[in-house]
Amino acid sequence: MVNEILRKHKEFFEKNNTKDMDFRLRHLDKLRSSIKKYEKEILEALKDDLGKPHFEGYATEVGYVMDSISFISKNLKKWAKDKNVKTPKHQPLTKSFVRYEPYGTVLIIGPFNYPFQLIIEPMLGAIAAGNTVVLKPSHDTVKTEAIIKKIIDEVFDDGYVNVVTGGREITTELINSKFDYIFFTGSVKVGKIIMEAAAKNLVPVTLELGGKSPVIVHEDANLDIAAKRIVWGKFLNAGQTCVAPDYIYAHNSIKGKLLEKMKKTIQEFYGTEAKESEDYGKIVNSRQFDRLVSLIDTPKVFHGGDHDKNILYIEPTILDNIGWDDKVMEDEIFGPILPVMGYEDINEAVKIIKSKPKPLAFYIFSENESIQNMTIDNISFGGGCINDTVSHVATPYMPFGGVGNSGIGSYHGKDSFYTFSHAKSMIKKSSKLNMKLIFPPYKDRINMVRKILK
Ligand code: NAD
Repeated sequence: MVNEILRKHKEFFEKNNTKDMDFRLRHLDKLRSSIKKYEKEILEALKDDLGKPHFEGYATEVGYVMDSISFISKNLKKWAKDKNVKTPKHQPLTKSFVRYEPYGTVLIIGPFNYPFQLIIEPMLGAIAAGNTVVLKPSHDTVKTEAIIKKIIDEVFDDGYVNVVTGGREITTELINSKFDYIFFTGSVKVGKIIMEAAAKNLVPVTLELGGKSPVIVHEDANLDIAAKRIVWGKFLNAGQTCVAPDYIYAHNSIKGKLLEKMKKTIQEFYGTEAKESEDYGKIVNSRQFDRLVSLIDTPKVFHGGDHDKNILYIEPTILDNIGWDDKVMEDEIFGPILPVMGYEDINEAVKIIKSKPKPLAFYIFSENESIQNMTIDNISFGGGCINDTVSHVATPYMPFGGVGNSGIGSYHGKDSFYTFSHAKSMIKKSSKLNMKLIFPPYKDRINMVRKILK
């Protein structure tokens, strides 16, 4: 099956239509119309799969990609143009330029948490760069998978963009096939499997992974603001966000106050019964539910802890008096459980964070610029915020990606275009002048070269 898909894609790519700028822009436009047409169905699918409120579904998935389509469409011609660059003096009558070419056929594999956005957003970059694309949405979110397939089949010809559905078996076949590029968003564990499979065929990869993203709340932080912005970023999509705050390090002198303010904020946002809230999502499936519930250590619950498997509900939960040997600190939590730890000396907290795998995001709440800079300069992480959480992802003007264990490569905005383009470095020489200096026999010309290359 995968061989047949790849054959069709190669055939489509060889026609060179996807390299035509108008062709690309026309399809981006068609996609925009189709997403608009099916907006209600997409939002309903997200609600079914993840209990996602329509507001969140629009802001973080549908509207998010609509905005990207506008941004890419507006800038694509500029990005795709040859870039003229300088030429060294020792190459006279020469022009140098970089030309961007598509890789060919790109495989995009998505996770369950933002199942629409994390498939469509990278696809926009792949199409913009002139590739054909095979999409493999998460099989954990079947309603969204179905609507993605409906839209793609309606907008794109067979062989240009295709959606492959199904479980692990088909994904294994896909990643072991000779695509020209693989773009994967998901866990560190599966990321390693993808990279190993891709390495066998020397297929280049982008890996958008996860990890434990810390928040430091320093003693001078504005605690009202910190509480609101942390609670929002953590419990958005019921904690199933790759850049969600995973745990908090709070200065001992303000930890108690911060805990109280976060508890109050949870109640303001979701009411005293989050179970009844229209604005609070659910856990994706019972496997994830069981994993998360096993992380709630009841004696350490400061707030929340309630759960109901029938409706895949876990209350926004804060754990206090946590240490690194607690189970909740072993792996990325990826759910609505927020452990809080205290520190006396911020340098100690930074040192401990640095001893762990590099996180996807890092957040510092402090009013002191030297503390802000000390933390972001010392800790290596994908990206982050000063006095906020999550928002650095919501901009087309900066690349988004991890470092070390949290990923390889980046995208968003123009970086999406460049990620899916190979940069060909070109030299165009005049035939009018023939420099003999570089040709043998060299004789004693080494001294001349010494004068030029120094
Ligand atoms: P996952 O790694 O379990 O699955 C991701 C995709 O890989 C799915 O489509 C899945 O079907 C497929 N897959 C699973 N096992 C596979 C295997 N053995 N071989 C081949 N493919 C396989 O991730 P998930 O549970 O869907 O999502 C959660 C993870 O994704 C978290 O770690 C989160 O941090 C990360 N994530 C990262 C980003 C980012 O942009 N960096 C965004 C969202 C989620």
